[in-house]
Amino acid sequence: MIDLSHYSVVDGHCHPFLPERERGELDQLLNLSTIPIPRLHSENIILYRKVMMELARVLGCPLRLDEILRRRREEYARPAEYIGRLFEEAKIDTLLLDTGYPRPPIPLEEFRRLVRCRVRCIYRLEPLISRLFQSAPPFDELLERYEEALESAVRDKGHVGFKSVIAYGFGLRIQRVEEGSAREAYERLRDEGVLTLPLRRKSPRAVRDEKTLRNYLVCRGIEKSIDLDVPFQIHTGIGDSPYIDLREANPLHLFDVIRDEELGKAKIVLVHAGYPYVEEAGFLANNYPNVYIDLSEMIPFIGPGMREKILQLLYMSPTTKILYGSDGYNIPEIFWISAIWGKQALSEALQELVESGAIDEDYAYKAGRLILWENAVRLYKLPPVGL
Ligand SMILES: [Zn+2]
Repeated sequence: MIDLSHYSVVDGHCHPFLPERERGELDQLLNLSTIPIPRLHSENIILYRKVMMELARVLGCPLRLDEILRRRREEYARPAEYIGRLFEEAKIDTLLLDTGYPRPPIPLEEFRRLVRCRVRCIYRLEPLISRLFQSAPPFDELLERYEEALESAVRDKGHVGFKSVIAYGFGLRIQRVEEGSAREAYERLRDEGVLTLPLRRKSPRAVRDEKTLRNYLVCRGIEKSIDLDVPFQIHTGIGDSPYIDLREANPLHLFDVIRDEELGKAKIVLVHAGYPYVEEAGFLANNYPNVYIDLSEMIPFIGPGMREKILQLLYMSPTTKILYGSDGYNIPEIFWISAIWGKQALSEALQELVESGAIDEDYAYKAGRLILWENAVRLYKLPPVGL
């Protein structure tokens, strides 16, 4: 049987956390929604049952929810030790942190002291855009400061990629925008004093202007990623409710960007594998040389569906373009369960390909290494990973 459990992982998309910033009970953190889900339902999501079962094993206690939660609180009172134990079992070698979440930001030095693994950062565009909107400089200065910040993030601060979450609020139908239209949209929003107004309180026209402006800024960000030769991660597919409009988050909507002669040179990483539009993501990775797929959030949040969806990606995506990730946030258990259960699901998917005669065992292990860390090392130019 193919067994990848002994392999290390580079977690290509996740977020820093601190124990004192934990928000809410475990059952509420394992369902993605920010709308409170009644306990009757949240405790009966399979991912939650799996986390509880594995925690009972690690903590050496009976499979009783209250007892597991009590023991976990006790153990987590010594956070570095507890996190170390989970991360070691999961063999987490490197975390690529999207520091744009949570807000306010987690002090990175504190986070680094907590986790005993390597940490690199991905620079999210939207907090920068929000800061610029708050100070509302003239348009030319806005652009200058925007580009300077992106350059400095990579050149001075060592970020290994960019990320955009434009799917939230504006969807993925990103169009190229003329600079003049972006300038006019910005000046209208600025003159009316509505730049920083929450989207739901903006007029339909102001929302259209903001979309024009953000499309322009995201495209400039993609161009910068080409200049600086770093990957550009973009949120596709599932996310937090009620903020994500899943209908607008299908990665196929990125078609105009991906086939654009200039923008198409960027290394675009479809974060969350576009789930549930996974076959669409696989098609894009197959047809366009610079499209990559990150598995985070699909792993571990679809739980028992992981094996099948990984297989669907492999219908068309080369194994050289799929990258492991967890979207771990807020609590260490997400990073851990994602790696241990995700590796199991990947092992099962590859086993199925071996049994059907599509690949041999040697190639199954090679594919496992590519997906779990080698593709990330190559794409983000990371130091080699120890087994
Ligand atoms: Zn995330």
